[in-house]
Amino acid sequence: MAVALGGNAILQAGQEGTADEQLANVKNACEQIAKLIDSGYEVVVSHGNGPQVGSLLIQHEAGSDEVPPMPLEICGAQTQGQIGYMVQQSLGNVFRELDINKNVLTTVTQVVVNEDDEAFANPTKPVGPFYSEEEAKKAMEEKDENWIEDSGRGWRKVVASPVPQKIVETESIKELIANDNVVVASGGGGIPVVEDENEQLSGVEAVIDKDLATRKLAEEVDADILMILTDVPNVAINFGTPQQENLGILTIAEMEEYQAEGHFGTGSMGPKVQAVVDFVKNGGERAIITSLDQALEAIEGKTGTQICADKDAVNQIA
Ligand code: ADP
Ligand code: MG
Repeated sequence: MAVALGGNAILQAGQEGTADEQLANVKNACEQIAKLIDSGYEVVVSHGNGPQVGSLLIQHEAGSDEVPPMPLEICGAQTQGQIGYMVQQSLGNVFRELDINKNVLTTVTQVVVNEDDEAFANPTKPVGPFYSEEEAKKAMEEKDENWIEDSGRGWRKVVASPVPQKIVETESIKELIANDNVVVASGGGGIPVVEDENEQLSGVEAVIDKDLATRKLAEEVDADILMILTDVPNVAINFGTPQQENLGILTIAEMEEYQAEGHFGTGSMGPKVQAVVDFVKNGGERAIITSLDQALEAIEGKTGTQICADKDAVNQIA
């Protein structure tokens, strides 16, 4: 089973973002993951990094008079290490409490994207802090960057969000899993790299959607279940309106109809729904979207939004 932890699970809205706060949130997440493992599931963990990479970009920028700031892909690697460390320690601690005899390891993960992915012609993903119009225009002229005015809050740099094609470290990740390790991989959607004709990789300034990257990871390690844990218990239709209805267990076809009707937020629930639909379409047994504290109940079919191939499979879980 592949389990994705939402960025909000690690740095919750309204929190300051201190190390202690993040560790406490990770610890809660790890208690849930340990329950899944304790009930017999083999788990690979991925996670978001939006808030962490945002903070890091501010730190690099603020220190840029004294030390050179690092590019986005290196900040991605840094946050994989940062969050991976927190998961390794917390999950390891819970394992020792529960007498689960497994090790936890993080792989710094590179994900190959296509150099000619159309996303590079149309960057849409805002990253880092807000700046004034003047600073934004200067960066656009001098550094050939793309910036947008973000909902009246100031100007932000935008980068491409290309489609993940291939995870570079898959073989090692599979070996680690086969040897009874719990692996943290593909954090923050993975570090986007492009591959040249001589199989040489290099990092690119882009952000891969973590939900799409987790689906890729799930498929490459032959996971049967994809579980995306976020801050809402269910996917809803007519979200945020008096007609809101939470979705339970449904077929791919039913979910695709709701997708076509436009019920899911583009930068939030949309990619999760796309990831679960594609995962099951590609042969995955079942995919779940639910909140972090309900992972175990969801796997038992008691809660959460779940997608199966057809009605027979739905009836088996319901
Ligand atoms: P994560 O950090 O886990 O990726 P996101 O903020 O990207 O979380 O996505 C989860 C959010 O998606 C929810 O908190 C909710 O506000 C929003 N959302 C948008 N559309 C829907 C929908 N149709 N049903 C449920 N939540 C939705
Ligand atoms: Mg998200």
